[in-house]
Amino acid sequence: MASASASSQGAWDAHRPPAPDLIDECVHCGFCLPTCPTYALWGEEMDSPRGRIALMALGHEQAELSDEMVTHFDRCLGCMACVTACPSGVQYEKLIGQTRPQVERGHSRGLSDRAFRRLVFALFPHPGRLRAAVPMLALSRRVGAERLVPARFRRLRAMAAMAPAVPVSAAWGQLPEVTPARGERRGTVALLQGCVQRVFFAGVNRATVAVLAAEGYEVHAPRAPRCCGSLQLHTGYEDDARARARETVDALGSYETVIANAAGCGSGMKEYGELLGESGAAFAGRVSDVHEFLAGVEARAPRRALRRRVAYHDACHLAHAQGVRSQPRSLLRGIPRLEVVEPEDWELCCGSAGVYNLLEPEAAAELGRRKAASLDACGAELIAAANPGCAIQIARYLNRPVPIVHPIELLAESIGVGVSPRAGPPTASHQPPSTPHHPPRGDR
Ligand code: SF4
Ligand code: SF4
Repeated sequence: MASASASSQGAWDAHRPPAPDLIDECVHCGFCLPTCPTYALWGEEMDSPRGRIALMALGHEQAELSDEMVTHFDRCLGCMACVTACPSGVQYEKLIGQTRPQVERGHSRGLSDRAFRRLVFALFPHPGRLRAAVPMLALSRRVGAERLVPARFRRLRAMAAMAPAVPVSAAWGQLPEVTPARGERRGTVALLQGCVQRVFFAGVNRATVAVLAAEGYEVHAPRAPRCCGSLQLHTGYEDDARARARETVDALGSYETVIANAAGCGSGMKEYGELLGESGAAFAGRVSDVHEFLAGVEARAPRRALRRRVAYHDACHLAHAQGVRSQPRSLLRGIPRLEVVEPEDWELCCGSAGVYNLLEPEAAAELGRRKAASLDACGAELIAAANPGCAIQIARYLNRPVPIVHPIELLAESIGVGVSPRAGPPTASHQPPSTPHHPPRGDR
């Protein structure tokens, strides 16, 4: 990798600019283009991985980032479908990970853009604040707050529309700090509770603990960290992400295995080496997605039959960013009588992508509609998705009420550890908004 100081020219500053040697690995073949959701939406070269890499190279040559360049970087979902597709092994995840913080440091965003981003990050990574907001969110759904927000506040409207319906009691529930293993103990694991996950998808955390315990693991679920910093990391807020990463390593660093059940969190923690150097890389090596972990050990708890047809949705931060594609499928296929079906265009993002559906609501809405349609076409009675953002996004755009569950909830039901896969959000909202494909540039 090029040294930072060698690249402290052009629009990039000296701290981790997009590395020229990584940029040079792109041979411009275009194999990644069909899998890039923004290229699929708009067909514009600069909204493709190849185009964005060219803009990163341009940033080394010109003095400033233009608004246009920033728009193309902002429109990238960070879904990493291009990483899966690229035959040359271009590490786009590193390149965009280097670019986003540069944009945040080197580009002045408009007042409303800054204010909205501040609002999002003052709320989402804080479980206490999210819990406090749950009654208000319930009320906002009941009164249809989305329709009450003037259309020009497009991001606020998107935020109101995404508010998941979660019972207050579920949002305030706490996991036991230690859950003993069932039967002979095979080891101890720590579970990252997450921020959004612990408040809006507490049932997923309960199911994860129950399955791990049933498989013979003592599960520690400390309250800290409140948030692993992945949302901030994937949005380019590097200092905040680093602080959260340090808190996470302090809280969970003594465990041999740290389990994540939210795709974005697992992916972010596996990137701690980029944020914290050696200590972060050592921690990252001990992070395991729950499917990855369970598929790597011999199943001990007997599975009982579930006569259902489930469509499996690949969360991008699991399938592309972590390369975890076969493990969730093999766990689901290990459940007797469970029929697992696959949607078309599995590799295309649903438009959730961390806080993308709040920051770029029109593009996210179109991707959400496409994903919901391809899942709907499977004719499944359930959808399994391993990321809270995907579950909320897909529920928003489905045209019929299909329960969306985490694969681990199905496993818990099959093992008989008493967790209802239908508990908690989300189910489909049936009023997908009609919006233009291109966001107006002035309203960012
Ligand atoms: S990122 Fe990879 S697939 Fe895409 S144009 Fe470059 S070399 Fe080809
Ligand atoms: S990360 Fe996703 S949206 Fe961004 S360039 Fe790659 S495929 Fe396109």
